Amino acid sequence: MHKITANYHTHTVLCDGRNTPLEMAEQAVRLGFTHLGFSGHMDADTHMDIREYCRQIRLLRKQFEGKLDILMGVELDTLYDPDCAPEAEYIIGSTHFLDVDSGIPMSVDNSEEMLVQLCHEFFADDYYALSKAYYELEATVYDRLHCTFVGHFDLVTRFNDSLHFLDESDPRYYMPALEAMELLVKQGAAFELNTGAVSRGRKKDFYPAGFLLKNLHDFGGEIFINSDAHQKDLLDGCFDMAAGAAARCGFDHYNILEHDTSGKVVMRKIPLRQDQDGQLRLSPQG
Ligand SMILES: [Zn+2]
Ligand SMILES: [Zn+2]
Repeated sequence: MHKITANYHTHTVLCDGRNTPLEMAEQAVRLGFTHLGFSGHMDADTHMDIREYCRQIRLLRKQFEGKLDILMGVELDTLYDPDCAPEAEYIIGSTHFLDVDSGIPMSVDNSEEMLVQLCHEFFADDYYALSKAYYELEATVYDRLHCTFVGHFDLVTRFNDSLHFLDESDPRYYMPALEAMELLVKQGAAFELNTGAVSRGRKKDFYPAGFLLKNLHDFGGEIFINSDAHQKDLLDGCFDMAAGAAARCGFDHYNILEHDTSGKVVMRKIPLRQDQDGQLRLSPQG
């Protein structure tokens, strides 16, 4: 049985991760990875020295040549400057913050306290109004950032396992989510299946949650499978589970990014097969 051997959503000490780029790359080799994408945060809350980041990742790419295909990406926020990382080889388009006049940037995933305060001050304690505003902003992510894929699509549910502020089967929640998703698929945005919250023990379900992932498949969406790793130990966190979840939703492949022989970054499909014995087979061959 083959394993997923690529990850494009990873953070290092250069933004808010725990390990150096070198430690992440060494771990990737240890796990038998073929591709590793770095995606340093650039947003209103996480500051990264982009020049130093590019310098280090470029050096690392040379150092691991022939062993591991290293890509230099960036995770941008919907409300952030789309031109801040011109050298990035791919962009994750993520919505963390809401467009409210709060003085300090307020995100939906920082803390329970911040979420409650955000909802109280700007949405009159109506979490469906908050999630609708979140998805209306999410719907603009491709227009704003021309991202390679959409990061953690339903991050607004980050604290829903503990606070139960949204009934995700309520149309007031899921209709705006599906509208945003359908639009983004039509625009040509790919999505990630993000295992980060599950592998860190924060949530039971991935981003996007099961029913959204099924709809993503039915809309004809394309997926990457990423762990949003902030530490090397979680580089392949819950990848087997995620592959199973994708296959159950009908996906017969996921995608990877890689350098072609001319050095250009291209997207390639990796088959996800369920054999007759019900076992999930992952093939690294495209
Ligand atoms: Zn993020
Ligand atoms: Zn991230």
